[in-house]
Amino acid sequence: MVLELKIAHLYPDLLNIYGDRGNVLALYQRCQWRGIQVSVTALDLGEKVDPDVYDLYFMGGGQDAQQVLVCDDLHQTKATGLREAVKNEAVFLTICGGYQLLGHYYKPMQGRELKGLSLIDAYTVAGEKRLIGNIVIQRDDSTVVGFENHSGLTHLGEGVRPLGRVITGCGNNNDDKTEGVHSGTLYGTYMHGSLLPKNPKLTDELIEQALRRRYGEISLTPLDDTLEQSAHERAVALSS
Ligand code: GLN
Repeated sequence: MVLELKIAHLYPDLLNIYGDRGNVLALYQRCQWRGIQVSVTALDLGEKVDPDVYDLYFMGGGQDAQQVLVCDDLHQTKATGLREAVKNEAVFLTICGGYQLLGHYYKPMQGRELKGLSLIDAYTVAGEKRLIGNIVIQRDDSTVVGFENHSGLTHLGEGVRPLGRVITGCGNNNDDKTEGVHSGTLYGTYMHGSLLPKNPKLTDELIEQALRRRYGEISLTPLDDTLEQSAHERAVALSS
């Protein structure tokens, strides 16, 4: 049986900073190497979401001005489809500006409050200074590495699980040591970089979860990750 994975890339032109598109390339390539049929569809402003089609949604980061356009479009054209997709257990990977819009709201330093999708119990308020630099987090028995650049400070609701605990860097709010969110099939993080090429374990977790929706429990063929792993370890070493 040939497995198939359908990826929806939300707002690829508006939300694509610090190489965020590389995350889609990493997902795509790791599927290809295993003979999984993979497709990527861009969903731009004005385009509706068919919740039955896609297994994995990706939304990258962007500046406040782009977030305003995206926020309006999310509520006008995509919210119903995306809510349904979450019920269908599609996987969501959201980065920085995209992550902020998964919560209840993002309050920028200037301008109106941006209403989020409330798919996770979290809110974000812009802080006085930008949090910029390399970041390493502990996630169960492994590390995840990336680069952050945000002023928004995100606070997770009571009992909401972060993606990991900050070892080096600032994470969600530069205070409680949480970074990102992982709630069911929803993932959010401040880690750019791009994140996935140097975190192959996390990439495969996302692919497995996304395939599970259609095919049940799947165990992916291992790949030779020597190069990816050495990039990962170098990033950990540079940050300590
Ligand atoms: N505008 C947001 C912030 O600065 C998101 C930035 C980003 O996506 N890198 O907090």
